Amino acid sequence: MDAIILAGGLGTRLRSVVNDVPKCMAPVCGKPFLHYVLLHLQQQGIKRVVLSLGHLHETVEKWMEQEKYSLDFVFSVEKTPLGTGGGIKLALSHVNSKNVLILNGDTFFNVNLAAFEAAHISSNAALSMALKPMEDFDRYGNVITDTNGFVTDFQEKRHCRNGYINGGCYIMQTDNDWLSYLPEKFSFETDVLEPRASKKEIYGFIDNGYFIDIGIPSDYEKANKEFQSCFTMSDLKLEQFDTLFLDRDGVINRHRPNDYVKTWEEFEFLPGVLDTLALLNKQFKHIVIVTNQRGIGKGVMSEPDLLEIHHNMRQEIQKHGGRIDKIYYCTAADDTDFFRKPNIGMALQAQKDFPDIDFSKSIMIGDSESDVQFAKNAGMKAIKVESSDFFHNFAKNFTL
Ligand SMILES: [Mg+2]
Repeated sequence: MDAIILAGGLGTRLRSVVNDVPKCMAPVCGKPFLHYVLLHLQQQGIKRVVLSLGHLHETVEKWMEQEKYSLDFVFSVEKTPLGTGGGIKLALSHVNSKNVLILNGDTFFNVNLAAFEAAHISSNAALSMALKPMEDFDRYGNVITDTNGFVTDFQEKRHCRNGYINGGCYIMQTDNDWLSYLPEKFSFETDVLEPRASKKEIYGFIDNGYFIDIGIPSDYEKANKEFQSCFTMSDLKLEQFDTLFLDRDGVINRHRPNDYVKTWEEFEFLPGVLDTLALLNKQFKHIVIVTNQRGIGKGVMSEPDLLEIHHNMRQEIQKHGGRIDKIYYCTAADDTDFFRKPNIGMALQAQKDFPDIDFSKSIMIGDSESDVQFAKNAGMKAIKVESSDFFHNFAKNFTL
């Protein structure tokens, strides 16, 4: 199935944060938003993408040339603004597949595309729309469906306690004639979706995947916060790695400001860690913790206290479907100690215990520069956790 991305929209409402680029090029965690949309398509098996572009199309074209995506691209450029519908109609002339996925380039919706396509085909509808369940919302109109799953109405925007929103993600049969009667310029929403829904011709596919629309500054900020965790891991192509090194404080449990975690009572798992470890359990052959515990070297806490914490921590992790194969800790207070990160003593200890550990196939997740340096020194890939919500966002929004 080919995909059309509507990437011509200008970020009028985003002007306070980004200027002079199409909305889909607004930077999120250092890359254009569009990058994440493409990554998602790539991961879900899409091979060919038609980018529907308009004003400032050069910005997008330049980025695409510079980044080497393993997707085939076609640019469909509007000479004059054709509206959302006209843009789709023009882009359709470049599509080769029987069904086409149509997406908004300023929305990210983690829809299971294989399931969406299967549902679309079995519904026999000319057009299917992915619907995102939402609670307490007023920014979007509620979409009403009948008992067979067909869309019947789009309600006006107003506060809604429980409903479905149009996720801006569609699958359309390319041989249907819905668009051929329409002029060159039209609105997909007003001229296609509304009249067709009133005839119950659009199938609604419900998917509760992660959804974000960067059209307004607050959600744009939210994307910047949440995307780091969602994508740093998937960007790395986890399947290339078989060993995971984890830092402890600030990654698995919450830091105690100006203090050490001295007892199990003081140990607090960070949100999402237990769920994420359960996901990572399947992915990695070895999962070990490497942690500096200078509190012992300084005499602030004892080694038996540390061992008790680790015993309880591992039990909790196991209870939730995760595992830690071994925990390495360095109690030295001296920064030059060979076993204290960023020195690689603990990495070598792990390799001695598990001789098949290959550092080039290992990832280190840590929250400090010393963790990143440790990974570098040992020849591993590093992921730096920037917020205590890292795993929470990862577990909530992402499935491996
Ligand atoms: Mg740490």
